[in-house]
Amino acid sequence: MANKDIDWGNLGFGYIKTDKRFVATYQDGAWNEGTLSEDETVVLHESACVLQYAQTCFEGLKAYRTKDGEIVCFRPDLNAARMADSCRRMKMPVFPEDKFVEAIIETVRANADWVPPYGSGASLYLRPFMFGTNAVIGVKPATEFEFRIFATPVGPYFKGGVRPLTVRISDFDRAAPRGTGHIKAGLNYAMSLYAIVDAHEQGYDENIYVDAMTRTYIEETGGANVLFVTKDKKVLTPKSDSILPSITRRSLMTVARDYLGLEAEERPIALSELENFVECGLCGTAAVISPVGKIVDHGKEIVYGMDSMGEVTQKLYNTLRSIQMCEIPAPEGWICKIN
Ligand SMILES: *Cc1c(COP(=O)(O)O)cnc(C)c1O
Repeated sequence: MANKDIDWGNLGFGYIKTDKRFVATYQDGAWNEGTLSEDETVVLHESACVLQYAQTCFEGLKAYRTKDGEIVCFRPDLNAARMADSCRRMKMPVFPEDKFVEAIIETVRANADWVPPYGSGASLYLRPFMFGTNAVIGVKPATEFEFRIFATPVGPYFKGGVRPLTVRISDFDRAAPRGTGHIKAGLNYAMSLYAIVDAHEQGYDENIYVDAMTRTYIEETGGANVLFVTKDKKVLTPKSDSILPSITRRSLMTVARDYLGLEAEERPIALSELENFVECGLCGTAAVISPVGKIVDHGKEIVYGMDSMGEVTQKLYNTLRSIQMCEIPAPEGWICKIN
């Protein structure tokens, strides 16, 4: 059992310092072995590439405690592969994928007391990230980097029950064609801050971004992919090269097909189709799926239901959660045991 004295059920989503974080550095063309550190601070040169030109990317995944008291992670190999893609696009050196998974395991093991108990709904969130550390002033990639993974316990996402979201079709764009929308770079979040604060001020929970070229196709929100369910129970998700390939979304498409016997398709989804659908959800590591109750497209309201999760959305959610908690068998390779 987790032995930290924390009210796990009431924990929010904020940073709580845990015992150890993994730190590796890249210098003279090579990564060192990395080590576990107790120091949560980073001291940087004032002209570090990350500070001046935002050369940084990150990942996010969770460790859970199962019914048997074991600790597991969900598909960390996919986080390793996605981070490698992000690094290549950002001209950062890839931290080898097998070493990435080992470092995740090491970090979770070193903070095992912080993994919340089974049934609490809480989990241990892991944040791998990399940034360019040496001084640059002309625009060029750094030559020295730091790769870190910290762990922080986070509470159940749906405290006090599920509340379907009200989202708007945003007038801001998130990602350009052939830009960086498909990688997990901090810069994609920096430019979304204005839009999300504005959305909240206008009474919306999230922005749904559309394709920047034609502004007629659905892309995703600032930090989650979108799923729709059609009247005949088909699961749909937008296809675009500027969407971040969510591991949760990819897993849910497999769950739809192989566990629920539903059709699941990734294809371009036009704004004009929204009213044909019966359910909508946002998917990502944080919540698995948050139901969307209403989409507002410039005064036009498309309502999916403000009372509860849709039927198919709920089944997708329950099944993936059960897989993650090892309550039902997982597809080969989805569960990474820590012990
Ligand atoms: C991280 C992220 C997601 C969700 O990805 P998961 O792997 O499911 O957590 C979706 N969209 C964006 C823009 C993201 O950064």
